[in-house]
Amino acid sequence: MAGEGEGPAIGIDLGTTYSCVAMWKNDRVEIIANDQGNRMTPSYVAFTDKERLVGDAAKNQVARNPTNSIFDAKRLIGRRFSDSLVQNDIKLWPFKVIEGPADKPMIVVTYKGEEKHFSAEEISSMVLKKMREIAEAYLGTTVKNVVVTVPAYFNDSQRKATKDAGGIAGLNVMRIINEPTAAAIGYGLDIVANDKRNVLIFDLGGGTADVSLLTIDENTFEVKAVAGDTHLGGEDFDNRMLKHFVEIFKRQHKEDISGNAKALRRLRSACERAKRILSSAAETTIEVDSLYIGIDFSSSITRARFSELNMDLFRKSIELVEKCLTDAKMDKSGVHDVVLTGGSSRIPKVQELLQDLFDGKQLNKSINPDEAVAYGAAVQAANMVGMGNVKVRHIVLLDVTPLSLGVSVRSEGDMSVVIPRNTAIPTKMERDYFTLYDNQTSVLVSVYEGERPRVVDNNWLGEFRLSRLPAAPKGVTKFKVFFEIDANGILNVSAMEQSSGMSCKITITNYKGSLSTEEIHRMVHDAERYEVEDDKYKKKVRAKEALEKYTYKMRNIVNDKKNGEKLEAADKEKIEAAIKHVIHWLDGIQHAGADEFKDKLIGLEFICNPIIAKISRN
Ligand code: ADP
Ligand code: MG
Repeated sequence: MAGEGEGPAIGIDLGTTYSCVAMWKNDRVEIIANDQGNRMTPSYVAFTDKERLVGDAAKNQVARNPTNSIFDAKRLIGRRFSDSLVQNDIKLWPFKVIEGPADKPMIVVTYKGEEKHFSAEEISSMVLKKMREIAEAYLGTTVKNVVVTVPAYFNDSQRKATKDAGGIAGLNVMRIINEPTAAAIGYGLDIVANDKRNVLIFDLGGGTADVSLLTIDENTFEVKAVAGDTHLGGEDFDNRMLKHFVEIFKRQHKEDISGNAKALRRLRSACERAKRILSSAAETTIEVDSLYIGIDFSSSITRARFSELNMDLFRKSIELVEKCLTDAKMDKSGVHDVVLTGGSSRIPKVQELLQDLFDGKQLNKSINPDEAVAYGAAVQAANMVGMGNVKVRHIVLLDVTPLSLGVSVRSEGDMSVVIPRNTAIPTKMERDYFTLYDNQTSVLVSVYEGERPRVVDNNWLGEFRLSRLPAAPKGVTKFKVFFEIDANGILNVSAMEQSSGMSCKITITNYKGSLSTEEIHRMVHDAERYEVEDDKYKKKVRAKEALEKYTYKMRNIVNDKKNGEKLEAADKEKIEAAIKHVIHWLDGIQHAGADEFKDKLIGLEFICNPIIAKISRN
C-alpha cells in the first residue's frame, strides 16, 4: 500500500533502547524532539497502579517499579519463547516473561492492580504510537503513514512482527527498511560525489550489531551484502560491567545482590552511565547510595578494564565486517568510506579495532550516530508520498535478503535453498522438486531460513501440504515451489503441481507465532482502550490540579492581610468553610473521575467568585 492515504509521512527508528522520529519539512529532514525536548526517546513502557507511561516518563521511574517497566521488546519480537537467546535474556530482565500460545513469549505486568499479558508486538506498538504522537504534536495534524526501520539481519518473522506492531498502533506501515540502509541514505544525501562509492555502514546500537556494504551511485543505494547479530550491542556491554561490579560488591561486602531486581536495575543504570563516560575518559567511578541493605556502593573502573571485559564481544562485531566483505566479494581496500552509526560505535576500542581492520583508514563520523537511521527513514517516507526535493524523489533503494531461504521436502532433509542470502529484493524465485516414493499423492513443504546444510539446524518458518497429486511412480510427478520476497523483506511461499492440466497452489499466510488478523484486531481494540484510559487519567489529573490550584489561591486571598480588611466577616467565613470542605473532600477521596473534580470546582467558584469580584471592585 505504498503511498496510500493522504497526509504527511514520517520515519521511525524503532530501536532496542532508544527510538527516534523524523520527517521531511522545509526542504530538509527534521529530527523531532519529544515533549521533554529530547531527540531520542527511550523504548520503554511502564505500568503502574494508576497509569501507563511510555518513553522518558517510563524510564525515569524504572528503579521504583522494575518489574512493570518493560524495555528490550525488540529483543523478543518475532522470536519464540524457547529460543535460547530469549531464555538467556529472561534471566537478566527484571520483568517477567512467560510462554504463551504457540511458543510465543508473553510479558507479564501488573497494571492498575490486575495481571496483564502483552506480546512484544503490543509493547512495540505502544512505543510506535508514542513516536507518532511526538510527530503529531510537532505538526499539529494526524499522521498515519510511516516507514519503520529494522536491523538488516532481522529475519522474516521479526520483520512481520514489526509490521504488525505498526498495525496495532493504527499506522500504515508503507515500508520496512533496513537500519544501515537508512543510515546510508542519511550519509549519501550529504556527500557530493559523482563517482560510485562503496560505503560500509557499521551500526552498533543498544541491542543489535548491523553491517551493510552498499554502493552509492548518485541516487541509487544498492546493498551488496549485510551481516549482523540481532543480539550484540550496548546492553551486552552493560551486562558485562554489571556482572563485574556484582563480583566486586561480593568481595567488598560479602553480600550477593544478584537476586535483587531493584539493586541490579540501579547498578545497571550506573554501569551504563559509566560506560558512556569511558568513551571520553580513561577512568570513572560508580557510586550508588544504599544499593543493598543500606550499603553504599562505590568503585572505579578504567577504560582498559572495560575493554577487557568486552573484548570478545567487540571482536565479534568486527568479524561481522569481515563476513560482510567476504559475502560481497570485496576486498577491504575497495571500501571508500567506513561510516559509524549507533550509540555504541562511540566506544574507542571498537573504533580502534575497526580502523585496524581497514589498515588505519580514517573512519567517517560525519553523521550523527543517533539520528542517521531516522533521517534515512524520513527520506524514504517522503519519497513514498511524493514529497521532498528532486534528490529525495529520485532515490532508489536496492536491498538484499539477509538469510538464505529454502525448503525441506523430507522430514529430516537437507536444506534446499531457493533464495540464497544477499539476493537483491524484491525477488521471486522457484525450484522444481519431484515426488519421493511411488504413488505419493501429497507432500509436506517445510520452509526454513538459515545457512546450515541441515534444516534441523536452521530456523523453521512454517509448512503446508500440497495434496491431490496424481498417483505415479516416484520421481515422475514434478511440482514447483515459489518464493517471493516483497520490498519489506517479507516472504510468501507457494507450490504448484502442473501435470495433466491439474494445478493447485497454496500460500503460507500464517507462520507459527505470528499474529492472525483477528488477534491484530483485538490488539488494536485493546490499544484504543488503553489510550482512552490514559486519556481519562490525564483529564482527571488535570481537573484535580485545577481544583487544587483554585482552592489554594482562594485560601491565599482570604489569608492576605490587605484583602482581609476589605473582606466582610460573613463572606470570609463563607469562603473558609467552602475551602475547608473541598480540602477535606480531596484528602478523603479514592476514586473520583474528572467530572467530580470539575463539579467541585464549579461549586467553589460559585461561592468564591462573586465575593472576590466584590473586593477587587473596592
Ligand atoms: P538502539 O538503536 O539499538 O536502541 P542506539 O543506536 O540508540 O541503540 O544506541 C544505544 C546504545 O548506545 C546504548 O546501549 C547506549 O548505552 C550506547 N551509547 C550511547 N552513547 C554512548 C557512548 N558515548 N559510549 C558508549 N556507548 C554509548
Ligand atoms: Mg539503532
